Amino acid sequence: PSLVALEGVDKTFANGTVALSGLDLDIRENEFVSLLGPSGCGKSTALRILAGLVAPSTGRVAWAGGGTGEDHRGEIGFVFQEPTLMPWASVADNVFLPLRLRGVARARAQEAIDASLALVGLSKFAHAYPRELSGGMKMRVSIARALSLRPRILLMDEPFAALDEITRFKLNDDLLRLQQEFGCTIVFVTHSVYESVYLSTRIVVMAARPGRIVAEIPVEEPIPRD
Ligand code: ADP
Ligand code: ADP
Repeated sequence: PSLVALEGVDKTFANGTVALSGLDLDIRENEFVSLLGPSGCGKSTALRILAGLVAPSTGRVAWAGGGTGEDHRGEIGFVFQEPTLMPWASVADNVFLPLRLRGVARARAQEAIDASLALVGLSKFAHAYPRELSGGMKMRVSIARALSLRPRILLMDEPFAALDEITRFKLNDDLLRLQQEFGCTIVFVTHSVYESVYLSTRIVVMAARPGRIVAEIPVEEPIPRD
């Protein structure tokens, strides 16, 4: 069943840039959708509109069962390209942040923090500080933070783009395993064809000027490897 959809979405920014035109995109439960396309085709803007961080100029975000983006905020986990961790806070406190912002007491949050760190394989680093971690580990903390509210949908904006290739391959595998264990819907922005084919169940290809969807490719079957 459908979880959330963009319906007839256009986005023109205040400076006149037309970032998106006529976008229709239906995200179904437990899908792993890649938004693939060149720089500037509106992938981030589409993701931010899904997250409720940017308002569409026309069209709407339709959630299954109704409600506005505000009503669904707690069901959305967002992972930015930069890990954006608080350097002065421990790994556990960074993962706690979304819970704290929703008024959950630290003592009551411990279980969720532990579970999120276990999902990304960083249980042993709960008391470490961001500066002690590698780039890949920081990204995994950022994913754990996005998972701490138990979201139904994880929106990821080129999360691995800044990492070296080996770390990136490892995190790709970790992300697939994590989705199976955790069982959430993922929308993943990338300009890597490799990543979109390897990770997703459906590739949504976008083009620029104006940003629009030009193809949708199902990748249900594993790619045959001779
Ligand atoms: P992508 O993620 O595919 O690289 P973006 O969604 O970031 O594309 O951007 C789509 C287009 O909108 C680009 O031309 C970009 O320069 C423009 N854009 C993005 N954000 C803003 C903004 N806040 N103000 C004006 N133009 C923007
Ligand atoms: P990345 O996440 O960037 O791929 P690596 O896995 O290459 O990081 O690890 C960088 C360093 O951190 C290595 O010395 C590795 O042993 C250590 N490390 C990374 N993840 C863990 C973990 N879950 N438990 C213990 N050590 C780890």
